[in-house]
Amino acid sequence: MMKRIALLGATGSIGRQALDVVRSLPNEFEVVALTAGSNVELLGTQIREFRPAMFSFEENAGGRRKWERLGVDSPEFLPPEEICRHPDVDLVLVATSGKMGLFPTLSSIRSRKPVALSNKEVLVMAGEIVRSEAAKYETEILPVDSEHSAIWQCLRGEEANTVSRLILTASGGPFRDYSHAELERVSADEALCHPTWQMGRKVTVDSATLMNKGMEAIEAHWLFNVPFEDIQVIIHRESIIHSLVEFVDCSVKAQLSLPDMRLPIQYALSYPARLPNPQINRLEWSTLDCLSFQSPCMDRFPCLGLALHAARLGSTYPAALSAADEVAVERFLAGDIGFMDIPRLLENTLEQHQAVTSLSLDNILNADLWAREYAWNWGLR
Ligand code: MG
Repeated sequence: MMKRIALLGATGSIGRQALDVVRSLPNEFEVVALTAGSNVELLGTQIREFRPAMFSFEENAGGRRKWERLGVDSPEFLPPEEICRHPDVDLVLVATSGKMGLFPTLSSIRSRKPVALSNKEVLVMAGEIVRSEAAKYETEILPVDSEHSAIWQCLRGEEANTVSRLILTASGGPFRDYSHAELERVSADEALCHPTWQMGRKVTVDSATLMNKGMEAIEAHWLFNVPFEDIQVIIHRESIIHSLVEFVDCSVKAQLSLPDMRLPIQYALSYPARLPNPQINRLEWSTLDCLSFQSPCMDRFPCLGLALHAARLGSTYPAALSAADEVAVERFLAGDIGFMDIPRLLENTLEQHQAVTSLSLDNILNADLWAREYAWNWGLR
C-alpha cells in the first residue's frame, strides 16, 4: 500500500529533499498535500509534478495574487491544520521552521496521524505538551533530524531502561577553530557556508553558533525521555557518525552514513521498513581515513550552554530562548548585530524572562511574543 503523505514546508530544504525521496521511490509514497510559506512559484512547480489533492500557502503579502498569476490548476486549498487531520493522509511531514509547525503538529497528533518532525522549534517550545498529547492519542513522533534519526535507529530493539547516555554529534560548524576575537568579526556570508551539510539559513547559522545542538539536546530529551544530564554533545567534524547511544553495560551503538539528509527523511517516511534508494550513496571505507572527536568549547560557543540552561529551567524559558534566537539570527543575517551578539542577546533574554508557574499553550505563545519583542529591541537603546 502506498503511504499517503502530507508535506508541510515543501519548498524549504527538507521539503525539497523529501520530494526527492518520493521521486526515487514512486511506488512507496504518494504526496496528497503540499504546503509552503511565501515561495508560491516553487510550490506551483511542485504541484504540477506531484498533483496533490490539497495545498496551502501563506495568503498574506500578496501570495494569493502571485498564485493566481501562475495559472496552475489549483487543488483544494485548506489550512495546514485541516490538511493534518484529513482522512486521506497517512503521515504528516512537518518540515516548516519556527513556531509555524506547532499547531499542525498538534493537529496531526490529535487525529492520530504519525508525525515526521523536522521543525525543531516545536519540541523546544512545547516539548512537554507535545509529548503528553502524543502519549494521550498514542501517536508516534518520527524524528527526521539526522542526530535524532541516528539515536532512534540505535534504540530499535532495545529496552528504554537500558539506556545510560545519548551522545549527540555536532560538526562544529564553519567556525569551530576560530578564536574569540575572530568570532566577533564573522560575517553573515561566512556563517551561511556550512562545511558538511546543505541546510536552510536559520539552521545553518544555528549550527555555526551551536545553538542548533542545544536545541537538539532539548528535542532528544522529549523524544527519547532521557534526562538532560545524560545527554552529551561531542564535536565530530566529518559528520559520518550521526549520533550514539550508550547502554548500561557501557556498550555504545552508533549510526553512520554519508551526510545526506535524504536518508533520515526516508527512514521517517518508510519506518518501520528500510528501503533501498539508488540516489543515496554508500560509505566508501577506503576513502575514510579518520573519524575525530573533540569536546565542544562552551566558552567560544555560549549558545550551547544557554540552551541547556534554558532546558533545565524549564517552563517557558526554552520557548523564550527559541523565539529570541529566531529574531537574533534574522538580525545577524541583516547585518544589524554581530555573530557574538547572538549569545549576548539570548543570555539577556533568559535573564529578563518572567516564567509562569503553569505551562499551557497560551503561556508558551505569550512567552514567544514577549521574547520576539525583547529581541527586536535588544541593543537599540
Ligand atoms: Mg541536526
